[in-house]
Amino acid sequence: MTSGQGQAAILGRGDDAHDTKAAHFVFVPLNEHGHLIPAVDTALLLATHGALCTIVGPPSTTTRVRHTVESAQQSGLPVRLVEFPLDYAESGLPEGADYADRIEPMHMMSYYRAVALLRGPIERHLRAHAPPFPTCVVSDFFNPWTAELAASLGVPRLSFFSICAFSILCQHNVERFNAYDGVEDSNAPVVVPGLERSFVVTRAQAPGFLRGIPIPEWEELADYIERARAEADGVIVNTFLEMEPEYVAGYAEARGMKVWTVGPVALYHQGAATLASRGNVPAVDAAECLRWLDGKEPGSVVYVSFGSISQADPKQVVELALGLEASGHPFVWVVRNAGGYDEAVRAFLRELEARVAGRGLLIRGWSPQAAILSHAAVGGFVTHCGWNSTLEAVTAGLPLVTWPHFTDQFLNEKMAVEVLGIGVSVGVKEPLTYQAVKKEILVGRDVVEAAVRSVMGGGEEAEGRRRRARALAAKARAAMEEGGSSQANLLDLVKRFETGAAAKQVQGSVVDGI
Ligand code: UDP
Repeated sequence: MTSGQGQAAILGRGDDAHDTKAAHFVFVPLNEHGHLIPAVDTALLLATHGALCTIVGPPSTTTRVRHTVESAQQSGLPVRLVEFPLDYAESGLPEGADYADRIEPMHMMSYYRAVALLRGPIERHLRAHAPPFPTCVVSDFFNPWTAELAASLGVPRLSFFSICAFSILCQHNVERFNAYDGVEDSNAPVVVPGLERSFVVTRAQAPGFLRGIPIPEWEELADYIERARAEADGVIVNTFLEMEPEYVAGYAEARGMKVWTVGPVALYHQGAATLASRGNVPAVDAAECLRWLDGKEPGSVVYVSFGSISQADPKQVVELALGLEASGHPFVWVVRNAGGYDEAVRAFLRELEARVAGRGLLIRGWSPQAAILSHAAVGGFVTHCGWNSTLEAVTAGLPLVTWPHFTDQFLNEKMAVEVLGIGVSVGVKEPLTYQAVKKEILVGRDVVEAAVRSVMGGGEEAEGRRRRARALAAKARAAMEEGGSSQANLLDLVKRFETGAAAKQVQGSVVDGI
């Protein structure tokens, strides 16, 4: 197949009875769960407020979100899902290497090339199915080629971030002020420039998006992404204003563009059946899992998960397990890819399960995380500090044991521990992967036990963290309710990008107009 020959497929019921004046957002997400889940929730929230949303992507994207989108379509939301096949031959991507979060580093560039080749087919599809013509492209910041898509369509483009404003601003500042210039040691402490408060990072912890990888093509991609971010017409962030007003304002000022905070977007699923299957089909019966939690005291269970990408190595699995067991607290522990461990580890996990029967629940595979975190029995979260997980914990009013693994997670840890005061760190200082090289970093069982006891136990510090977490949760919910800051921003987006309004913005200066 050559570029552009693939047939687009409209999935699900689509929407034919739309309001022709309504805003029409075209979402171009990245198919990593941590990017995709909040992007789809944002699209559904905009659709709830009257916009038409078209979510586009390769089959690896549509497969992951199809059930969520179809259930929104069934409830009458104007949302479309359109699938475009990837051109393996043209991009050099091996067939089947379609998922950004599972890809070998050697295929990463071909993956980005393959996705970028969708520009032509997406544009042709959108033109062929107009009206309604798109009024705005909302693109994951990892899809810089959408700058050309939006320009060719003649509509504004907003970057979508599933990272808090604090972390985006820190990343931006270390890059724009060249904070690491002359610093040889990648583990040397450096103060993030341009902020009122002092936050210390290292280049290994916060190298900048795709920076510091000694592959020239990656550096070029990083530059391309940065150009596309700098030239965007605005930014949508899954956060809420009241949690970090100074960093939202700081990023808006640094970029000279409007920032719409629209989160916590997971609240779209509040009280809905889709909460348990948000993002994926769980590997366990969610109802059974919630019944298990029903039998526990309020606030007594610690939930342990390291997101959708991190894979603990065998020694770490054992240390973590023994630390959790020794903590004495009930726990739900999500073990990713448990089948991938050798028989010795699998046997160890079975024995652990037998020892902690009734007190510890292991989930092997995808967990209904959003549903578990919102259960009253859960009182703390051991997390890798992926931003979605962190925000979901905030929304549930939970204190955290912070255990960053890589990318923005070290900055998100600072957000939880130093800015919000709701986390206890296990003390990891280096990423598991740096410059595409894996490191062995082991957090011992004693450290795990102490951190869990500290977050789940009594005492003034633990109570203070819980109080702050609960206060934040109340603010998070208020932000999404009528009159709240996130809801106001969603409504503003829908209004600002309705047909006519969006065209005017593109003729004038979009940035000035916003
Ligand atoms: N998630 C889930 N079940 C799992 C693993 C992850 O529901 O077993 C969801 C989680 O609720 C969050 C997202 O997947 O919304 C993971 O994003 P995050 O930014 O926390 O971490 P990442 O996976 O990107 O490292």
